[in-house]
Amino acid sequence: MSLIEQIPKDFRSGFVALIGRPNVGKSTLVNQLVGEKVAITSPVAQTTRNRLRAILTTSSAQLVMVDTPGIHKPHHLLGERLVQSARLAIGEVDIVLLLLEACCPPGRGDSFIINLLVKQKVPVLVALNKADLVQDEDYLGREEAYRLLVKDSGWPIYRCSASTGEGCDVLIKALEHSLPVGPKLYPSDMVSDQPEKVLLAELIREQVLLQTREEIPHSVAVKIDRLEEISAKQSKKKSKNYTAILATVLVERKSQKGIVIGKGGMMLKSIGQRARLQMQALIDGPVYLELFVKVVPDWRGKPALLAELGYEVH
Ligand code: GDP
Ligand code: MG
Repeated sequence: MSLIEQIPKDFRSGFVALIGRPNVGKSTLVNQLVGEKVAITSPVAQTTRNRLRAILTTSSAQLVMVDTPGIHKPHHLLGERLVQSARLAIGEVDIVLLLLEACCPPGRGDSFIINLLVKQKVPVLVALNKADLVQDEDYLGREEAYRLLVKDSGWPIYRCSASTGEGCDVLIKALEHSLPVGPKLYPSDMVSDQPEKVLLAELIREQVLLQTREEIPHSVAVKIDRLEEISAKQSKKKSKNYTAILATVLVERKSQKGIVIGKGGMMLKSIGQRARLQMQALIDGPVYLELFVKVVPDWRGKPALLAELGYEVH
């Protein structure tokens, strides 16, 4: 095999920012398009904190997708960082993929984002997501309502479902055609630019959000303290190589620590079990996971700690 990979002359490449209100399905769509779980998702708004780049390489193009935190009105330092991060992403990309929800009529949040995008000169494609939640006979009316909202811009609208994959092939083709001709920017087998440590920490945070539900909304961060591959020879108990992961779940209050740990440690055990299964799928091998919970009051307001946790400081 030749070391220099042949790519077609008209190969296209570039950056696509996924923009939309919190909870419209940006992270779910990134995972669906890439075909692997690189972004965590949850029914709780504002799950995504970092700008994550997910890479999709086809025979004709390479799309580098930037999953952004949703655009909303900021309430605290972390919130400001999230919005700033989404705004910055818009300025750095070749295309914006604006996600809107087919399952709900347009609202004020949508107009806010559309107005923000109109001011930028970047090309925009619209994905009308969650089409699986609308009856076919209602879909056209919904699309029309959104078309009126983006009327003068002439942005094309694509029907899709990030959950079922419906419409995603057409969407990928449309994105490819909107990119400039250019070289491969990342190796073909690379699906994310985030270090493995960050992806692993995110899988734990996802389980905390999913399992504690409304009780611990955004006071949680996860730090991986140790990540080590242990060979079967080193280990007395295990017969296979495995990855040992020690992680700390940071919360802001003592009461939240109690919720994460749960009665008799049951909640933490369940969080650990589910996260471990997801980690094993990501790493493609056995994982030993140990979780700790620590109270750090107001970690969201501490710039140094935010940076240490991997939240970009601009
Ligand atoms: P984000 O905040 O925009 O990144 O939204 P997420 O990707 O985290 O998704 C928010 C919620 O919407 C999750 O519970 C997803 O499972 C759900 N969701 C996302 N896309 C779809 C879709 O196409 N159909 C349905 N039924 N649910 C979806
Ligand atoms: Mg997200």
